[in-house]
Amino acid sequence: MEVPRFWRETRARYNLEGVRCGNCEKVFFPPREVCPDCHRASIGRMEKFKLSGKGEVYSFSTIHSAPDYFKDEVPYIVALIKTDEGPMVTGQIVDWEDGEVQIGTRVESVFRKISEQGKHGIIQYGFKFKAVRRALK
Ligand SMILES: [Zn+2]
Repeated sequence: MEVPRFWRETRARYNLEGVRCGNCEKVFFPPREVCPDCHRASIGRMEKFKLSGKGEVYSFSTIHSAPDYFKDEVPYIVALIKTDEGPMVTGQIVDWEDGEVQIGTRVESVFRKISEQGKHGIIQYGFKFKAVRRALK
């Protein structure tokens, strides 16, 4: 029996856990078995690597219509984040103010509810992102 994709990836999604190639030191997320650059040289040398969750917005879109189970959240923003370690990560931006999210905006990960399936359903948690606000002086 094959393990459902969701369960296989849960640990990585939950912890922002990727891997680093012991050969070229590139970081990948989600984790891979083999480095796409080093191939054979990376076999057995892929090490777990926890992303800092910090990065910047590479692109984003504001979602104004959503399936029923998301409709309380519209409008919401889904962004492609370029993490400081290199990998691109897709995530929802939370707690934003109008105009705050732009390309290049610094973000950091926060731990939030991702989805709830049905009335008595499973609640999934994982990372989302919020803009890093500079302290007012
Ligand atoms: Zn490599």
